Amino acid sequence: MDVTSMLVKVFLVDKQLRGLRSRLDAADRFLGDQNKDLERLDTKRRLIEAQLKQAQVDAKTDEGEIARIDARMNQIREQMNSAQTNREYKAFLTELNTFKAERDRLETSALEKMTACDTLRAQIEELDAQRAQRQQVQGVAAGERTQRETEIRERLEALKVERKEASKDVPPEAMTIFERLVISHGDDAMAAVEVEDRRRHEFFCGGCRMTVPVESVSTLMISGKLTRCVSCQCLLYLDEAAREAMKPAGSKRG
Ligand SMILES: [Zn+2]
Repeated sequence: MDVTSMLVKVFLVDKQLRGLRSRLDAADRFLGDQNKDLERLDTKRRLIEAQLKQAQVDAKTDEGEIARIDARMNQIREQMNSAQTNREYKAFLTELNTFKAERDRLETSALEKMTACDTLRAQIEELDAQRAQRQQVQGVAAGERTQRETEIRERLEALKVERKEASKDVPPEAMTIFERLVISHGDDAMAAVEVEDRRRHEFFCGGCRMTVPVESVSTLMISGKLTRCVSCQCLLYLDEAAREAMKPAGSKRG
């Protein structure tokens, strides 16, 4: 078997391998996205929980302060009842009004904090709902990933064996050229020649659709030496259809 034909076998096996792996990669990526989303939701929840805790503490502090003021105001009221002079009474009244103003301020503040707590609790609830939903998707994604891996494992192993077999007689320098091309061109590292018109010498590269000279086609027919497309640099080969199209009209009948 000529070197191009050997490489075509390797190339076709590699293509299948890449296809299988890309299916697994896609499942991996999807699962990774779900995990990232879950982490993001968890981080957000922790942040809001901390805010809630702080708001609760603040509200309690305000309430404690209010209770302290109430006690002090009751005390002043009693003192007012037993005030001896008008001046003394007025002094208590002024003090009482100062406390009253402070109490109003604290009450507003406590109310604001409780409202904030309610908002934060609602946010946590919303996040929990989102998380539950995301968790479900993550579960499906993890299941699919495992299933896909199981599905392809056997095929992957078989292809690896096939590749080893196909590549064992390929000369190392040809393999190096091929492998470099796969890195730069991927699935377009090799392309079949398309025979548009044999007698008019109209041949195209199946990869880039540019003209392939008849000399290249002859080389492939005769020796199967490594032949590159002058436009896209891929390695050209003759597939079954091209070989059939290259047969002289007479031999086709037979
Ligand atoms: Zn080309």
